[in-house]
Amino acid sequence: MKELTCPHLGTPLKVIRPEYVDFDGNTKTGEMVVHADMADATLAALADCKAAGFRIADMQPAENFDYDDDKSMAANNSVAYMYRTVAGRNFLSHHALGLALDLNPMQNPYIRPDLHAPEGSVYDEAAMGTITPAIATIWKNHGFNWGGDWNSSVDYMHFSWGKSDIASGGKLTPEVPSK
Ligand SMILES: [Zn+2]
Repeated sequence: MKELTCPHLGTPLKVIRPEYVDFDGNTKTGEMVVHADMADATLAALADCKAAGFRIADMQPAENFDYDDDKSMAANNSVAYMYRTVAGRNFLSHHALGLALDLNPMQNPYIRPDLHAPEGSVYDEAAMGTITPAIATIWKNHGFNWGGDWNSSVDYMHFSWGKSDIASGGKLTPEVPSK
């Protein structure tokens, strides 16, 4: 696994290349940048998802989308590390540390009272690429928390690494000043 360092925070990152099956049934090799501590668990969970028949639309690093989450989501891309704040907020996302990943955004929306992203996304358990409770259980078994379990908002696409202190809840530091 290739190793990288986040240019903003110095976070140790790894580039993983998981095999997945896309929506057309083709086996592909993806590329995902994750926090070094989360790399093995991510590979293991993705392998279990593949064995369970879960399909992934696309898996490219955020740099291919200029670190623009809207562009990445609109392309139905699955991504982990992305140096950014939480959508519409002034604090960093767990994605900024590579401690979270999003799968198939078009089938697994992020819904808050003030947000439904990406545009046109629909959660339907019968649809290909949807994170059902059974698929979420695979991730939980590998130490992840699922955004589909949240209360005040629901983020079906989102898994955060639960074995890290910094992923255990609350805002990350440093906070990004509001503009
Ligand atoms: Zn996310």
